[in-house]
Amino acid sequence: MSSQAPIESYAELLKQGNLVVFPTETVYGLGASAWNPKAVQQIFKTKGRPGDNPLIVHISSIDMVKQFTDQVSGRARTLMHKFWPGPLTLVFPKKAGVLDAVTAGLNTVALRMPDHPIALQLIELAGPLVAPSANKSGRPSPTRADHIRSDYGSSLPLIDGGECDLGLESTVIDMSVNPPVILRPGYITAKQIEAACGFLPEIANYEASEGTAPKSPGMKYTHYAPKAKVGWLTPEYSSMLNSSNDNSGTLLILHHMSNPVSPPHKGLKVTHFKGDYKRMAHELYDAFRRADFDKITHIYIEPITAEVIRDNQPAEALLNRISKATGRSAPSVEL
Ligand code: AMP
Ligand code: MG
Repeated sequence: MSSQAPIESYAELLKQGNLVVFPTETVYGLGASAWNPKAVQQIFKTKGRPGDNPLIVHISSIDMVKQFTDQVSGRARTLMHKFWPGPLTLVFPKKAGVLDAVTAGLNTVALRMPDHPIALQLIELAGPLVAPSANKSGRPSPTRADHIRSDYGSSLPLIDGGECDLGLESTVIDMSVNPPVILRPGYITAKQIEAACGFLPEIANYEASEGTAPKSPGMKYTHYAPKAKVGWLTPEYSSMLNSSNDNSGTLLILHHMSNPVSPPHKGLKVTHFKGDYKRMAHELYDAFRRADFDKITHIYIEPITAEVIRDNQPAEALLNRISKATGRSAPSVEL
């Protein structure tokens, strides 16, 4: 089906139990009806997603929340009204009947209302959709239609909505515990949540979850990684790059410091976001994917400091995603 097909035809595909890729303001989602067990299973198969990693249910009205939970606290209601539609996912105790495949057997369910006209219209027509990021598991999330084609060819029905505005996945906050906890940092920060409803949520230590039974199973998997080796730019790596005669195949991603590698750069590629963390969020996954295309073998990223996080909205989410790609926390960052 071409991207010019009317949205009703994609909604029809979803209602018949097929998968459809659609744009949201965060990243592209691989959608399936949240009430169709076979379609939900197909999501795990298609992505190669581990079965213990639950899915977020996407809704288009606050009224749809009651299909999935009957335990919405006053705080949760405030957050929904303040941040929906938008990049905030709320985790609730689930109602009986919500598919186990959706929640990966957990007794909670994650809900979000995306801020994208195509996504909202599609859900309005087809009903609530589970929609994990539309990448193959372990690959960077897709923020452009050609990212999906590079993972899947043209095998999936795809609604091309151009580039996603934000470029990073939603903040996930667990409202089923008291006090609520941020399970995955995202565009909406703990401080914004505090300003909206008067409590500052803690951010779960996402790095401690390997080998344990984490509350948000998705956080234990290496995500967001390109094929190139990704590492934080430590002083040791800086001097290694400075002393090497050939840095081709290496990409430096900077955001604050001046380039520590003295010219000539000997084949080194440099991308500098110059303090624009929104642009960095918008472009990070594309930069990772382009690095693969350009046969980059090593990517070094300037560490994101606590100071940068304090002053720049999506920096905590960037730290989280880059840490997942490197497998390490940034040097000198206290979380
Ligand atoms: P993705 O849709 O691929 O961006 O990933 C969804 C994220 O939400 C993963 O990190 C999941 O572990 C998390 N998630 C989904 N449902 C739940 C839930 N019921 N409880 C906790 N985390 C969840
Ligand atoms: Mg994902």
